[in-house]
Amino acid sequence: MIIAIYRFRERVDKETIRVLLSFPVLITILILSQQIYPTIILSGTAVTTAILIIYLYFQRREQMTDDLTHLFNRRTFVQDIQKYIAEGVNFYVVHLNIIDFKTINDRFGEKNGDQILRGVANYLKSINVLFKVYRTGGDDFAVICRNLNEAKVQIFANEIYHRFEKPWTNNLLPSTVLVGIAVLNYPNHVKAWEDMIELIEYCSQQANQQSGSRIYYADETSNEVIVKKRLITKLIKVAIEENLFYVVYQPIYEVSSKRFKQCEALLRLEDPQHGIVYPNDFIAIAEETGLIFELTKIVVEKVCRFIDEADQAGVELESVAINLSSTQLSQESLIEDILEIMLHHRVNPNRIVFEITEAAFISNSGRTLNFMKQLNHFGVKFSLDDFGTGFSNLSTMMGLPFNTIKIDKSMLGNAIKSEKNSKILEGICHAFSEVGFNIVVEGVEDSLGHEITQRTTATHIQGFYFAKPMRSPQLLNLLSLKDLNLP
Ligand code: C2E
Ligand code: MG
Ligand code: MG
Repeated sequence: MIIAIYRFRERVDKETIRVLLSFPVLITILILSQQIYPTIILSGTAVTTAILIIYLYFQRREQMTDDLTHLFNRRTFVQDIQKYIAEGVNFYVVHLNIIDFKTINDRFGEKNGDQILRGVANYLKSINVLFKVYRTGGDDFAVICRNLNEAKVQIFANEIYHRFEKPWTNNLLPSTVLVGIAVLNYPNHVKAWEDMIELIEYCSQQANQQSGSRIYYADETSNEVIVKKRLITKLIKVAIEENLFYVVYQPIYEVSSKRFKQCEALLRLEDPQHGIVYPNDFIAIAEETGLIFELTKIVVEKVCRFIDEADQAGVELESVAINLSSTQLSQESLIEDILEIMLHHRVNPNRIVFEITEAAFISNSGRTLNFMKQLNHFGVKFSLDDFGTGFSNLSTMMGLPFNTIKIDKSMLGNAIKSEKNSKILEGICHAFSEVGFNIVVEGVEDSLGHEITQRTTATHIQGFYFAKPMRSPQLLNLLSLKDLNLP
């Protein structure tokens, strides 16, 4: 056995060698014991012990490793991080995420996808035997490096990054894949292991979103983002429980009638300790945590109640626009919830317009179309929000049942800066008008912005120049005024 271990030592890992080497020791103890106590037969006990050692070892090993790559798995990764932090060891985590790996699997088949993953795993294992390598998710890998300084870890991360420029398999498929690399250190960037796991996720997202080199080095401020995210998540949960959300309404000016007939519902959170929290600070977190579904229902509920109030007060309110996050467009049950709330408040669905931001369509137009069609069937209308900020594919967009396009304030901002951009704005509005869309120009703040907007075919204008978002009683007041004296 010793000869076999010696011959194959390169192919067998150290822990297995240690387990195998324990057998000669066990046999020696057995022989010695047998000499001392010749009347007791110990061979059966020894065999059982040996089998038990082998069984427990391989069972533990299975639990610790990933079947496909034979790297350590996520569970071991978390345990190791906990252990190193408890011991106060200084270490770096170099985390790799293969970007859009699902597409590779879909296009070339899982077998080829697996080959790439194995290729990456073997490469990572081969870099430095002192580093521990893990597969922490379907397309995620991590390397824990101890005893490395910042300069060396940068060289290491760069080396891995550049390796990804080359293919991973030698078949004919284009087997290069994109990678995002996040580099974090304990104790510089985090103090607790839970923070480390969250920070890895955050840094990995940042890495993937970077243009150019997708290597993201955590810094002292990275953890603040995690802390803030946790705080906001808590504020949202408390605000849902204690009814601390409220909606403000920004009137939308109709050019033809020179009146406000529509408005946009904008959500606010009023926390007793932190004051008013704005959507830019909590919507993205609500999306990530799934709490957005609850928020949408809150907004729809409040808006339906407001429409009912407006009707009771006899003021003219054509429709209210509600922002819908892209993450919600695949949630079929939301459709039922929305319709149920409308029914409960006896609000005709044609009084609601859902605004969806341009970026929402990039990934999932099939589902988006389905979601929109179902609500559209009941009379709900849709508006494309923030046009000019995303990367919408015009032909995809035209296939969706929108009846309004909202031109983002950044486009107006550009139009104010140059005559050329102003002409572009006019041209875009003209093209959309030609095919029958309503057009809202957003973010009109002053008379210059208004003047430029008037040169376009915009049917509606929204902005601080006309009115800021306000609470429902103020809007009811405003809508009930006979003479608004608007420009
Ligand atoms: P949005 O849908 O594009 O809403 C317009 C934002 O621009 C609002 O900010 C509004 O107050 C602001 N705004 C309006 N006129 C002007 C102007 O003349 N100048 C400037 N600088 N800004 C103006 P707010 O309320 O902070 O909302 C920000 C974003 O948060 C919204 O952008 C929307 O995407 C999101 N949001 C707001 N409420 C909700 C909600 O209930 N659900 C979801 N999913 N998103 C929401
Ligand atoms: Mg909007
Ligand atoms: Mg907008």
